[in-house]
Amino acid sequence: MSPSPAPDRHRRRRAPRVGFVSLGCPKALVDSERILTRLRAEGYEVAPSYTSADLVVVNTCGFIDAAVDESLDAIGEALEENGRVIVTGCLGARPERILARHPRVLRVTGPHAYEAVVGAVHEHLPPRTDPFLDLVPAQGVRLTPRHYAYLKIAEGCNNRCSFCIIPALRGRLASRPIGAVLQEAERLVAAGVQELLVISQDTSAYGADLRYAADSWRGAARETRFLDLARALGELGVWVRLHYVYPYPHVDAVLPLMAEGRVLPYLDVPFQHGSPQVLRRMRRPAHAEDTLARIAAWRRACPQLTLRSTFIVGFPGETEAEFEELLAWLEAAQIDRVGCFKYSPVEGAAANALPAHVPAAVQEERYARFMERAAAISRRRLAARVGSRVQVLVDEVAGSVAVGRTAGEAPQIDGVVRVEAAGRLKPGAFATVTIHGADDYDLSARLA
Ligand code: SF4
Repeated sequence: MSPSPAPDRHRRRRAPRVGFVSLGCPKALVDSERILTRLRAEGYEVAPSYTSADLVVVNTCGFIDAAVDESLDAIGEALEENGRVIVTGCLGARPERILARHPRVLRVTGPHAYEAVVGAVHEHLPPRTDPFLDLVPAQGVRLTPRHYAYLKIAEGCNNRCSFCIIPALRGRLASRPIGAVLQEAERLVAAGVQELLVISQDTSAYGADLRYAADSWRGAARETRFLDLARALGELGVWVRLHYVYPYPHVDAVLPLMAEGRVLPYLDVPFQHGSPQVLRRMRRPAHAEDTLARIAAWRRACPQLTLRSTFIVGFPGETEAEFEELLAWLEAAQIDRVGCFKYSPVEGAAANALPAHVPAAVQEERYARFMERAAAISRRRLAARVGSRVQVLVDEVAGSVAVGRTAGEAPQIDGVVRVEAAGRLKPGAFATVTIHGADDYDLSARLA
């Protein structure tokens, strides 16, 4: 890293920036990549210089004396140039050695403890969380267990939704070449990840900015496009979950991969509304598509498909009739998993200038009605799963209960499956269970 001009004045509006110094062997490098992947998925930016960083993480090596000296020097340099330093890596196993020379470091964590590093970054440089801006939900901004990881495939967005300022903040769509994404995915799988959560602002647009550039991976030609990516990730032998997919016709082609079990039969599609007029005012991508027909076709192609979506109620100008249209759409679409926000203006968004903002009390009332309808749908759909035998991925174990998810639940945002008498399972393990109970959002099960 090299010195650079001081951070800009608009610090509150921009993403928090983390500088990173990575020393040591390839294993340490994998840890560094995992830390950075996680932080980038949460909206942090990687700073190219000490002075443009809000804090610096130094991933150290302590293998031989020369490496220890190099690490201690690197920590000293980061403290001098930036002042706010978190230390991790092999030398972190000997914190007394670091603290004796550099008592000002914010935190020391040990080798391969990337969860602890990410936790320390959260503590000293909290992530910016905004439900309208962030890909990873606020409740998801905590430590990701080792067995799942977010895979960010692109930055920015070419759409111009009227309630959103992401294109202004993060720029136009900038896809990562498919080879680079797949290499990162391979490294994550090699590090023990069992589930990859593919994220970007508009996953179905992946590669459009690169004109679907040709690349290669595992000796075969691949194009930087949504379908090729899904197909290739499906070769890794882990769960692959697709988030932020828009209902464009080309998405249909991914359903056969789901039906064949290569990619999880799960689609996170931010529909946002069911009224064509509101969608037009929102300037949503694919607002002219017949989404109900598309959903029906998807379910025919892959009957086990779980659909997740988010919605905004009380968008400027939303009439009672338009809201009723949304409820009718939701009933017809039978969306399995639903999140809902009451519209709130974001500084700089075009929707602020729209007439007829909906009063807070009306927003509140519509939110309650919407969630009631969504819960009833969820309850019915979960009840239909009682008696089925399914695979769960265990996220945590508390006493005798293992808490996990099936293909139909994404971590942090959907419900869970509580597996009784399963205290011997470990996080990251797969288990076959029989579902025996369901409530509005969660399932209960026994080991099969
Ligand atoms: S698709 Fe719309 S809401 Fe999503 S980032 Fe792009 S402009 Fe914002």
